[in-house]
Amino acid sequence: MTAVSDPSTTRAPADRCPGLLRPFLADDGALVRLRMPGGRVAPSVLSEVVAIAERFGAPVVQMTSRGNLQVRALPSPLPPAFVEAIEATGLLPSATHERVRNVVAAPLARELDGMVAAFDAALVADPVLARLPGRFLFAFSDASGSVLSERWDIAYQQFSADSGVVYAGGLASEVALGDAVPAMIDAARRFVEIAPEGAWNVRDLPPTLLPDLLPSWDTPREAPKRPNRAIRRPLRPGVVGPDVVAGVPLGMLTRQHVAAFAEVAGPDAPAVVTAWRSVVVRDGAARVDVLRDAGLVIEAAGPWSRLSACVGAPSCRRTTVPTLDLARSAAELVAARRLPSTQDVHVVGCERRCGTGVSDHVLVAPPTVDHVVTSLTQVPIGGET
Ligand code: SF4
Repeated sequence: MTAVSDPSTTRAPADRCPGLLRPFLADDGALVRLRMPGGRVAPSVLSEVVAIAERFGAPVVQMTSRGNLQVRALPSPLPPAFVEAIEATGLLPSATHERVRNVVAAPLARELDGMVAAFDAALVADPVLARLPGRFLFAFSDASGSVLSERWDIAYQQFSADSGVVYAGGLASEVALGDAVPAMIDAARRFVEIAPEGAWNVRDLPPTLLPDLLPSWDTPREAPKRPNRAIRRPLRPGVVGPDVVAGVPLGMLTRQHVAAFAEVAGPDAPAVVTAWRSVVVRDGAARVDVLRDAGLVIEAAGPWSRLSACVGAPSCRRTTVPTLDLARSAAELVAARRLPSTQDVHVVGCERRCGTGVSDHVLVAPPTVDHVVTSLTQVPIGGET
């Protein structure tokens, strides 16, 4: 078994990102985070992780705002059998690089699957990149720009079958398809080499260092500003062509959910865990009934396509607000009253605002369920998000 370090209870900036080999000790026990670059994962692996969670900790698996998974309420120290079981799923291909494999990729873009896998292989093969901060994020997008709304550090956007653009530090450079991964790896290596102490992301670099980040890029130009409001919309639940975007209420995956993914897509076909608390089930459009019956959200109109919450009390020591219960009660009220859900709302227990999405209206420790209902059903300034 790979060695596990002592659980961290601190929230020092360098120490925020847990992994399997570096658990975080929360109020409900040890917590580990499992990374799946681009969210691409077989339903059979999701089933194994949920079964392991049921055996050792909380019987649900939490989805994060980067499309990763968290198993919580585990014993501390972690039982060796737990670590070995997770390793056997294949979700820990590198002990040295586990916390730096942070990659989001456009969930519907099958054409990016191979590039994301090639990037992950190149990342874990480079010893220098084991020193990247755990907060550092890579993004791979199709022409729609769907994941460029996230707070990435280095990104690639594909515009044609054989070329695209790489982005970093407000600069952009055209690349041939085969050059994109080396260009991104090179920029990440340069970040490790030049970043001053306390710089966790490219945006933390002094502007004078930015040219040093991209010495191998061809004639970088100024990148477009942040994506516009339309692109910032999360992918909503529903049928999209042959695929289904299945919303997972509160981002808590259950045994029933993962069994439905396996039944609809097959156990070994790739599914995609998104950064927006949903799972893309490829070629599942004809079987939405199976997904709905398992408790997944297929309709974009209801409260569960717009409502999320941090884990809150009693699992987190920073609040006394039971955020998950508040959100569940609010969703029931909205559905019972047949109110329209018009705004993305994220309920949090403190100003740390864990799990906040780019389009979320954040409610910090809301005093009542009605307060959540009101926010969820009011039309936001500027119209629909
Ligand atoms: S936002 Fe605050 S209360 Fe919620 S999980 Fe994060 S630290 Fe805990």
